[in-house]
Parts: sequence; C-alpha cells; structure tokens
Amino acid sequence: MKKMVMDKKESKSSFVPIPAFRFSTNTVLTGRGIYQELRLSTAFIRQIITQKPGALKLVIPLSNSETVTCELVKFDLGNIKFTENNKEVIQDVKIPVTYRGIISGEQNRNNVVLTVNENYLSLIATTTDRTLQLTRADETDPLTYRLYNSRQIAFPVTPIDCGTKSESTSPLVAAIQSHGFVSKLNTVQDKCVNVYVDCFDSLYVKRGSNKDSVISYVYELFNAVATGYFNEQINVEIMGINVWTTTDPYRGDTRENALADLANYNQDNFWGNICVGLDFSTTLIGRSGIADDIGRVKANSPGNCKAYGPNVSACCYNDLNYTTIATGATDFPVGPSTTGAAIYLVMHEMGHLLGAHHTFWCGWKLSSNPDVYGAIDSCGGVEGTCAQGPPPPPTGATIMSYCVGYGTPSQFVDFNNGFGPLPGAAIRNFVDQTQCIASCLACLIQHQSRAESDWAVHSKLPAAAARNERPPIVPAPLLYTGSKEVYWKWANANAIQSTR
Ligand SMILES: [Zn+2]
Repeated sequence: MKKMVMDKKESKSSFVPIPAFRFSTNTVLTGRGIYQELRLSTAFIRQIITQKPGALKLVIPLSNSETVTCELVKFDLGNIKFTENNKEVIQDVKIPVTYRGIISGEQNRNNVVLTVNENYLSLIATTTDRTLQLTRADETDPLTYRLYNSRQIAFPVTPIDCGTKSESTSPLVAAIQSHGFVSKLNTVQDKCVNVYVDCFDSLYVKRGSNKDSVISYVYELFNAVATGYFNEQINVEIMGINVWTTTDPYRGDTRENALADLANYNQDNFWGNICVGLDFSTTLIGRSGIADDIGRVKANSPGNCKAYGPNVSACCYNDLNYTTIATGATDFPVGPSTTGAAIYLVMHEMGHLLGAHHTFWCGWKLSSNPDVYGAIDSCGGVEGTCAQGPPPPPTGATIMSYCVGYGTPSQFVDFNNGFGPLPGAAIRNFVDQTQCIASCLACLIQHQSRAESDWAVHSKLPAAAARNERPPIVPAPLLYTGSKEVYWKWANANAIQSTR
C-alpha cells in the first residue's frame, strides 16, 4: 500500500487536500469507552463524487488538538455489470467512488479505505495497533459522524467454521510442492482475479429492499477484501454484481445445499473467474461459509476454462449474518455496514478457490532440506495426519486460520497479517500458474469487448508505464492523448479512459 502511494507521489500526482471533518465532542458509550463526534463539511461528498480526484489528502481530527492525515489514491473495483435476477441490466447505478491508501508518517503497516457515494461515506484506517472507523451517527443527519478508535472503545467482534473440504486439485499440489517458498511479487501487475458477486434475496431484504443499497454494500465489502488481496500482490476486481430482488433459486437450509444450488445455477455461465455468493441468513444465523474446492477457477468469459463438475465449482458461499457472536477479527477495515467477520469470511473462502488450504492443514512445507511438512498453527485441530501446529503468535494469526477466538478468547486474526508467507505464496503461485486467470491486459481487452465505458486503466498497467505516462506496450495499437487526465484509446475502437 505504501509503495502504491509512493509511486503516485513519484508520478507527480498531487494529493488534493479536501476539507472534510472537524472535531465536535467526546461522547461516552457506557461499558464500551468513548468515541468522538465529528462534523462533515457539507461540500465534501459532492466534491468527491463530481471531481473524483485521483489522489486525495484527508485530515481526520482525533481530538480537539490531534489529527491524522490520510493519503489516498483512487482505484476502481472493476468495470462492473449490474444485473437483477440474473436477467435485466440495472440502469443508472450510482457507483461509489473508492480510495485506498495510508496514514502519513505511520511507521507500522497500515491501510486506509474510503468509500463515498451520494449520502454515504465509509472510512476505515487500520494499523497494527489500532483501528479508526468513521460512521454516520444517524440516518436522518448526513453531517454528524462518529469516530471509533479501538484504543478508546471496544469494537464488536465473531467465529468461523468453514465447511471447505481439504483435498487439493492436482495442479495446486504441484504448485505448492514445486514452489514452496517462492514469492512472486510481480503477480499484482500481471494478473487480475475477476469476481462475479451473486447477492441472495436475503441480502436485498437486509438492505431495505433497495438495489443501490445492496450495491453500495458490496462496494464497501469488496473495497476491504480487494485491499486485503492487494496487500498480498493480488489484484481483485468485480466483473458483475447480480441482485436477487425476487426469490433466489438457492435453498436456505444448509450452507452445503446453498452452495450446491449456487454452483448448479451458475455452473460456468458467468463472467468472472470465481462466483462469490453473499447470503444474509435469518433462519440459520452463523453458517459462515464454504468454498467448493481448493484451487478452482474458470476463465472470465462464460463457458471458458470450465470449472464446474460433480461436487466442484468455482463458487463459494458466504453467510454474512454471523456478526453478533463475539470473536477476534481485529484491525479489519470495517465500514458502517460490514463487519470484520464478514471481510475475513469472504477473503477466507475466496482464498480457498484461489489455492489456499487452512493453516491447520498438514501439507504446508515448513522447511526444506530435509523437507518438513506440517500445520502452521494450532487453531481448529489438524487437517491430515500430523502434529498440532504451534499456537498463533501474540501479533495474531492469518486469514486462512480458525484463530478467531473459537473457544480461546486470546486468539485473533489480524487483517494486517494478511494470509501469511505460506498461504500467501500458495495463492500467488496458483494465480500465477493457472492458465484460466488472464493477464491484466487480456482482462482489459475482454472488458473492452463488453463495450462498457469509463473505467480506469491505471491500476492495471505496469507501474513504469504509469509513471512515465506513456502508453503501455500491448499487442494492439494505442493512441495516447495528453491532457489534464491521461487517456489511452484503442485505435479504431471505443475509448478506454484512464482517469488519474
Ligand atoms: Zn475454510
């Protein structure tokens, strides 16, 4: 994240300072601590939505006298096609503007995620030792916000029991074994994992039966999820969001049945590498999630590089309604509508489809020469035949673990730990090696072939090309027009725009 901000600085992009918040008062919340009430400048949201500055400097008051400054870079979650009931295209979607970046001068690892839309703002900053979250205080008052600082107030937190089977597909085993410790740091620039998000009718009802509200929610959730993956050098984009506004065709009894129906309904006929189903169950709360395989993706276009078969698919199921149970997902960039548990769950289930086992799987290559295999940590027993792993470190566990306070309150997963070296490398290697996930450029062409408009190229270009403001070398002629914003156009085709 820091590197991205530095690159942006090197490219001489100006971080536009926009006045946002001023301190109002401290308020005590009985039994939990204190929070700060802040007033939002009336012009802020309009300014972001209309000007969409490419880089932004935001000052947040922590008290009467103390502030933190966030340096943020705009990014797009993808050129998303919105559909309703998997048929009609939803028109006139109010698309949120999304930023990510860092806290200026913060030495610890940290992430800041900002999502802005009409009447909507979510800002979360996480470092290794605290989380700051800004949330609107009241639905009827658009300008009063609460700042929750984890050093001053207890955040509500949740457990997981993921139903994913522990077998690997064979190319994955080969990838892990032949590349045990190889870390492919360039993956982020080369490949994009594209996600199709299928929102169950329960989520639509939960969001007040409002399509825009469901879409804003998915943006808030994936802003955090994609940031978590970006920290692992993996680009995640959304290719499509479908909202079920009538009864969805998925059974609501068990997660296994919900996943089987999701997989059977979508098979290989969706745009994206993987299909992520989002449920908000009201009958069986706390089902958490399940992925249909470990290391299974299809190609972006429907029916290409097939993944669907008996009991396997490129789909995962996530029940977002298990937030009331106390557990340890800490430092997650939760927004007003998302929870740490929800972000953790979606990152975790996607992690399975992208090639990672649980941390308590016995197949991790812990050291070489002689090769030693075993479990990374001890939360959740073992998968396979090996000794229990060590307890998680005091700094917290990683995304593919079960160390979320499952019977052991001291255990927690910290967002800033990401996937950890071995699961992170497994995902990078899988994404790198699978032929089904295209290079960013191929994605770009594919997106373009869908004849959609207005999406940023920059995040998908090699950093050097972006810095030099030259068109990238691609197997198609590009036209470059210099202006206040940088545009690349395909010759003889519709414009692909790159706003900076
Ligand atoms: Zn799992």
